[in-house]
Amino acid sequence: MREFPNYFADAEESFGKSKFIIFGVPYDKTSSFRYGARLAPKEIRLASWNFESFDLFTGVDFSEIPMHDHGDLDVEEKGSREMIDEVSKFSKRIIENGKIPIAIGGEHSISVGVLENLDDIFVIFLDAHLDFRDKYENNRYNHACTLRRMADKVDMDNILALGVRSAEKNELEEARKKGLKIITSKEIRSRGIESILDEMSKNLGEQNVYISLDFDVIDPSHAPGVSTPEPFGISPEDVIRIIERFSDRMVGFDLVEVCPTYDMGITSILAAKIIRIAIAEIWKNNPYI
Ligand code: MN
Ligand code: MN
Repeated sequence: MREFPNYFADAEESFGKSKFIIFGVPYDKTSSFRYGARLAPKEIRLASWNFESFDLFTGVDFSEIPMHDHGDLDVEEKGSREMIDEVSKFSKRIIENGKIPIAIGGEHSISVGVLENLDDIFVIFLDAHLDFRDKYENNRYNHACTLRRMADKVDMDNILALGVRSAEKNELEEARKKGLKIITSKEIRSRGIESILDEMSKNLGEQNVYISLDFDVIDPSHAPGVSTPEPFGISPEDVIRIIERFSDRMVGFDLVEVCPTYDMGITSILAAKIIRIAIAEIWKNNPYI
């Protein structure tokens, strides 16, 4: 492999002049199966150099998009809440300055720190797992509790969990009792993503959208290098369609749970590509950028 700079490809603008702020959160302390997600920001950055600056499908040239890579937050050895506080502090700076946070995990618990700073938001939660436990291994900020912690802040009407195919029985019952809207991976396959997107668009109104992408939502045949793989997932194209459809109102994005220790490069390549597509779509379609 050739040597490349240690920042995300084309993210060469300063913080002040950029619209997109990419940052890594190398944290995997609460991982319940495989460790290694802390290595993902580095691998995904490296993978990003594989692609042309010009994106043929969107017609966007990344060299024209003002984006900045802040590098990684120094959180690897911290406790979960402390780590989330660091993410929150940095995300606050990004959001207060009218910029779009693009967070690369690390495990899913990092997303809570970004979301804490967004008001009046609709969360599209893409995950094979429900992540709705109130506590796991005596930690309220375990990666198995991510959606639950988001629901502490965001009204249940403003959350949609997509691609779910794994939950504990009580966890699922509690989520349903609280009124969480869940669309399983099976339903996405049988109905098709377009019909689901149409229904979502109708219910959404004018709200801004945050997309939290746990990479294990994608089928392991496309994304084998994740921390907790779960068969029978959705396709990368489904994920792209969701991003395309809501890019005109997206104000933040995270991509988590890629686990390079169990990858052959394929998962990091797909992750880097999806981050680039998300940035290109927002740049093209969000009128407030
Ligand atoms: Mn998750
Ligand atoms: Mn998951």
